Amino acid sequence: MAELRQNLATREWVIIARERARRPNAYVESSDRLRTHERAEHDPTCPFCPGNEELDLERAREPAGPDWQTRIVRNKYPALAEQGLLTRSFNGVERSITGVGYHEVLVEHPFHNTTLALMTDEEIRAVLLMYLRRGKEIAADPRVEQIVFFKNHGERAGASLLHTHSQVIGLPIVPGNIRHRIEEARRFFDDTGQCVFCTMLADELRRRERLVAVNEHFAAFVLYASSSPFHIWILPRQHHASFLHVAEAEVMHLAPLLRDVLFRLYAHLNDPDFNLLIRSTPTKEPENGYFHWYIAIVPRLSRSAGFELGSGVWINPTLPEECAAFLRGDISATE
Ligand SMILES: [Zn+2]
Ligand SMILES: [Zn+2]
Repeated sequence: MAELRQNLATREWVIIARERARRPNAYVESSDRLRTHERAEHDPTCPFCPGNEELDLERAREPAGPDWQTRIVRNKYPALAEQGLLTRSFNGVERSITGVGYHEVLVEHPFHNTTLALMTDEEIRAVLLMYLRRGKEIAADPRVEQIVFFKNHGERAGASLLHTHSQVIGLPIVPGNIRHRIEEARRFFDDTGQCVFCTMLADELRRRERLVAVNEHFAAFVLYASSSPFHIWILPRQHHASFLHVAEAEVMHLAPLLRDVLFRLYAHLNDPDFNLLIRSTPTKEPENGYFHWYIAIVPRLSRSAGFELGSGVWINPTLPEECAAFLRGDISATE
């Protein structure tokens, strides 16, 4: 019989379809596809490769000069415009705000044939510090309510350019899924006096069966109520509501854990497509006891369809405990 599981933090349900369960190794990508490390180090047609920088779009580079490690550029086709007044219009059913905000790209490395999973800790730190730096600058704009950091790796995850990059969007609203998470976290806090994420983290650290990697400051686990195969959360062990409030010293400890988790996905599943996002409190909200920032990693291995769209309930054909064991190396690829 299948099992319905509820995510304690979001209160969303998923169906773990044991009957149709596929072993984790069924999701190893075919070796025919060109993996990231098999590409050329430089692509003359790539706008993110050194030598092709579109300087009119560039906002910052680190370090300065031709030998940059990371760059921030404005998106060539931005979803939101930086210039302009924020005006609201409410007219019956027609409710709108002018499309002001930020839409930027963080080029994570000069090489065309790498990705976070293959970088050094030092290189990942440079990316994370750029997230922090640019996030704080965007958050200082009073028009911005929410910053969304995300990464699309591979075509199925929505990436249109292969060169390793992330995106930063500064929105003039708080999106519904953040509002929903905050409301649920606040409700849990009212009921128990605890942060729901700290509660989940303590339980995952005690059980260990869904843990993928852990260090003194961060822990990564496959979600009990994973909506899709290998759906992973990375939680800081220190409670902070916002990623932007994290000390640089703490970010240093995130780099090796992030690399470890992404390398496990890369090595065990053969460079799968995935989305990575940072969930964090709205920019104008102070620190609080109930919301806890985290990173979600969602490999794009199965497709959603009408049922998911219609119900908001996902069908996951893998057992989260088996996915975690597979990433830890406890279940071999040929088993
Ligand atoms: Zn490139
Ligand atoms: Zn917490």
